[in-house]
Amino acid sequence: MPKDCRTVWNNCLRVIQEHIPEQSFKTWFEPIVPMRLSNNVLTIQVPSQFFYEWLEEHYVHLLRKAIDAELGSDGRLEYSIIVDKGNEKNKPYVINIPTSKVATANVKEAARAEAHTADRYKSPFQLHELEGSQFASYLNPHYTFDNFIEGDCNRLARSAGYAVANKPGITSFNPLMLYGGVGLGKTHLVQAIGNYIKEHNQGKFVLYVSCEKFTNQFIEAVRNNNMQGFTNFYLQVDVLVLDDVQFLSGKEKTQESFFHIFNHLHQAGKQIIMTSDCPPRDLAGFQERLLSRFKWGLTADLQQPDLETRIAIIQKKLQGEGIMMDDEVIEYLAHSIDTNVRELEGVIVSLMAQASLNRKEIDLDLAKRTLVNIVQHTDNKEINIDSIQKKVADHFKITVEDLKSKSRKKELVVPRQIAIYFTKEFTDFSLKSIGYHFGGRDHSTVIHAIQTINDLLKTDKEIKNAVTDLGRQFNVKGKR
Ligand code: ADP
Ligand code: MG
Repeated sequence: MPKDCRTVWNNCLRVIQEHIPEQSFKTWFEPIVPMRLSNNVLTIQVPSQFFYEWLEEHYVHLLRKAIDAELGSDGRLEYSIIVDKGNEKNKPYVINIPTSKVATANVKEAARAEAHTADRYKSPFQLHELEGSQFASYLNPHYTFDNFIEGDCNRLARSAGYAVANKPGITSFNPLMLYGGVGLGKTHLVQAIGNYIKEHNQGKFVLYVSCEKFTNQFIEAVRNNNMQGFTNFYLQVDVLVLDDVQFLSGKEKTQESFFHIFNHLHQAGKQIIMTSDCPPRDLAGFQERLLSRFKWGLTADLQQPDLETRIAIIQKKLQGEGIMMDDEVIEYLAHSIDTNVRELEGVIVSLMAQASLNRKEIDLDLAKRTLVNIVQHTDNKEINIDSIQKKVADHFKITVEDLKSKSRKKELVVPRQIAIYFTKEFTDFSLKSIGYHFGGRDHSTVIHAIQTINDLLKTDKEIKNAVTDLGRQFNVKGKR
C-alpha cells in the first residue's frame, strides 16, 4: 500500500519528538502541515521564510534522521513556504525549497556534535579507526569565547578557562572543574575551551564527551569485550573535556575506568576539563579517590547572571540571529527571566517564532504575552508577579495599572506596598527587578515598601487581615 504523506509525517514527528524539548517541538513542528508525498519526496508547509531558515539551521539533521527512517536514504524533504503579501484578498503563495543536500564544513562539524548526542554515529573509538588520523572532536563550533558573555557570575570560570585554553596541560588548573546549575553556560564554556585549543594547536587531539556517552561507550566496550580498545582510545587524547560528571554517580565500574584514564592523562601532562552540576564536595556516589583527583586543579563555579549580564546575553543572541528588538523589550525580558540563560534563550526563540507566525514585530506586548504562556507552560508556577498584582488589585478593588502608576494616593500606596511585599516573599526577583515591574520604581522604594508592611503588620489590624487573607489565597506551594 502506498504511504500517504500524513502517516509518513506523523511517524517523522514521533522520531523528532523524542529528541527535542517539548517547547521546541510545539513551537517548530506543530505548525507544520504535510502537503504531499510523491516520488519519495515529502512536501511540508511551513508558515514563513524565517521558519524555514530556522528549521534548516537547527533541525536539519534531525529531519534527515526522521526522513531516513521513514523514506530511506534517498527520501527527500521539500518545504513549501507561505509567503504573506500582507493583503487579505490575495491568497498567500507558496514557494518550494528542497532541503540542502551539501553540508558546509561547519555544518558537518555541528552535525557530528549533534549526532553525538543523538547517539546516531558509532562511538568515537570506532570512528577514529575509520577516519585514520582525522580525530573527531565532537565539539560544536558555535560555542566560542567570543559569544560567551562575561559577568561577575562567571568571571573566574571564564578566566581560568581562557588560561587553560592558552596553555593546555601546563597551568596548575588541571583538572579544571567547572560547576553550576542547569543552563548557566558550563557546556558552552568547556566547548569554547576545546574549540580554542583545537584552533590554535593543529596537532592536538581534543575530545568532548558527555559522561552519559562515556558510560554508554564503556558498557558497549564491556559487552564487546573491547575494554582495551576503549582505554587505548582515551589514552591518545591530549585534551579531554568530560561534561556532566555527576552522571557517573553510583556507576562504580565506569568510575574505575575513568580513574585510570585520568591518572594516565594527568601524569602525561594532558589537560582534563570537567563540568558538574554541583561542587565536588557535594557529589554523592563517587569513589573517594576520584573525588580527591577532582580537587587537584582548580574548581570554579558559574552563578546566575545579574541584570546587566542578562541584557548583554540577550543582545548578543539577537545579534547572532540578526534580529532587532527595542531596548524596552530587552529590558523587560532581562527583568522577567532571572533563572537561567537557557530559559532566556528559549523565550527569545519563541518570540521570534511568534513574530514570524503572526507576521508582526517583536514589541513589548508580544513579549509579555509570550512570556506568560511560557512561564505557565514550563513551570506551572501559580504565583508570579502578574498573579500577585492581579490578586492584590482585585482585593482592594483597584486595577493593576493603579499599582504601577505614579500616583501617591493613600488608597493606592498601601495596596502597592502589599503587592511589593508579596512579590519579594513569593518570587526570586531582585529588588531592582521588582521596582521595574511596579512602574519603574527604584530599589530603595521597594525596600521602603517591604519595611512599611512589616511594621504595619505589627500595629495595624486591618492591614494584617488583608495580608493574611491574600497570603491564604496565594496558597503557597513554595517559592517561584
Ligand atoms: P549548562 O551546560 O550549564 O546547562 P549551557 O552551556 O548548555 O548550560 O548553556 C545554555 C545556553 O545558554 C547555551 O545556549 C549557551 O550558549 C547560553 N549561555 C549560557 N551562558 C552564557 C553566557 N555567559 N554568554 C552567552 N551565552 C550563554
Ligand atoms: Mg551542559
